Amino acid sequence: MKNSDFSDQYDVNFSRRDNRKKDYGDTSSIVVIGASHAGISFVDKVRKNGFMGSLTLIDRQKGGPMQRPPLSKDFLLETSETPNSKYLLKTSKWYKDEKVILHTDVTVSKINLRKKSLTFSNGKNLDYDKLVLATGAAPRMLHAAQGIANVFVLRQPDQAMAIRKIAHSARNAIIIGGGYIGLEIAATFRQIGLEVSVVEVADRLLARVASPPVAELLAGLHQERGVVLYTGTGVEEVFQNNGLFSGVKLTDGTNLVGDILVVGIGVTPDSDLALQAGIETETTAGGAVLVDEYQLTSDLDVFAIGDVAFQRGSPLRLESIHNAQESGARAAAAIMGKPLPAVQAPWFWSDQYDANLQSVGIVPMGDRNVYQVIRGEFPEKRASFWSYRDKKLLAVEAVRDGASFMLGKKCLEENISPNPSLISDLEFDPMAWILKNSA
Ligand SMILES: Cc1cc2nc3c(=O)[nH]c(=O)nc-3n(C[C@H](O)[C@H](O)[C@H](O)COP(=O)(O)OP(=O)(O)OC[C@H]3O[C@@H](n4cnc5c(N)ncnc54)[C@H](O)[C@@H]3O)c2cc1C
Repeated sequence: MKNSDFSDQYDVNFSRRDNRKKDYGDTSSIVVIGASHAGISFVDKVRKNGFMGSLTLIDRQKGGPMQRPPLSKDFLLETSETPNSKYLLKTSKWYKDEKVILHTDVTVSKINLRKKSLTFSNGKNLDYDKLVLATGAAPRMLHAAQGIANVFVLRQPDQAMAIRKIAHSARNAIIIGGGYIGLEIAATFRQIGLEVSVVEVADRLLARVASPPVAELLAGLHQERGVVLYTGTGVEEVFQNNGLFSGVKLTDGTNLVGDILVVGIGVTPDSDLALQAGIETETTAGGAVLVDEYQLTSDLDVFAIGDVAFQRGSPLRLESIHNAQESGARAAAAIMGKPLPAVQAPWFWSDQYDANLQSVGIVPMGDRNVYQVIRGEFPEKRASFWSYRDKKLLAVEAVRDGASFMLGKKCLEENISPNPSLISDLEFDPMAWILKNSA
């Protein structure tokens, strides 16, 4: 099946929504802006919770909604002109079976809270009873690199298509930003055969998201495979030749020549629609839409889920598939008046070369009282990094070590902290200990 089959079948006329309502014998309608991980999880769960009314998913991307994690990994290795349908989030049959109306290639430009109505960039309107904002986040671009050909950010499938088109004939790649996205792209580019330089302004990789030993382990992996890392230095100037990217000058004076530049310096919640409508946002969380534990915004008929949302009182805004799915499930339960699903410890994964990292909990950054206990064969093989403050377990980051990830997840969800002095002892059996202590 081609990805374009979706727009052919499902970019239906807006009046179809009313026909659907009759099918259900239920007059209420839920509209979701954003058909990605959060929006689709919500739709799936709200149907499972028994919602019989009209469900409409809207996205400005073309074609069937696709998974995001492969975009920095396997997706970039492929060379075909069209994306492989194995990356679709759902098949066309699923939308049909679940009676979900999918409008792609359509941008919502305005929300009118008083009239409970949306306006599209083509001037059409659509009313809702409940609205779910699942608009995600937008990648930041380096100001100096704007408008130059062969300079990219990566968030959406069309951006990944544009990157892979250039990457397979390029020689030297420069990646600005040593976070997870930048490092995953670096690993994939090395597999394609490019020379790769990664530039990170902080004094180490993953400075906002991983503990120092995990960053050290991953830096070693990249260096062994030939990636040149520049840390503690930023970009002073971006060079172009007749509008085509040609290299950068770093603030430490280094000149790098390149024919493709990927900027991975973080994202900003895509909350403009909410802000313009007068929905409360949180400046300290990058302008994310502020929600309560039901994912409800300051407007009683509008929910926000996934990367665009920030739950009041949280230590930080989460950006992960798990959060997209969990927040979607919470909003779906809340709308249907069902009990909220049990809260799980936040987790995400990253794949670089042969190393799979799974991280659960939140590693506080820049906290001198937080330390890591290493369990396993660091740095070569499988290892897990248990972050503690005093004797309280806060997070577990596991590299090639799914068992330790599961143990850490169980500990965090049951609020139990194995003694840090036992963790590094490979004779110690954490599972037996957990079973004994959680009984
Ligand atoms: C390359 C990449 C790799 C990743 N890898 C991992 C990983 O390995 N593990 C992990 O846990 N997480 C990973 N993530 C993060 C994860 O994909 C995100 O947390 C997740 O996609 C968030 O889902 P979302 O639905 O909230 O937002 P998004 O996926 O950003 O989707 C938002 C959607 O809303 C649409 N939209 C926005 N505004 C409008 C509008 N006005 N009108 C119409 N449509 C609109 C957008 O087109 C978009 O499709 C990765 C992300 C990227 C980009």
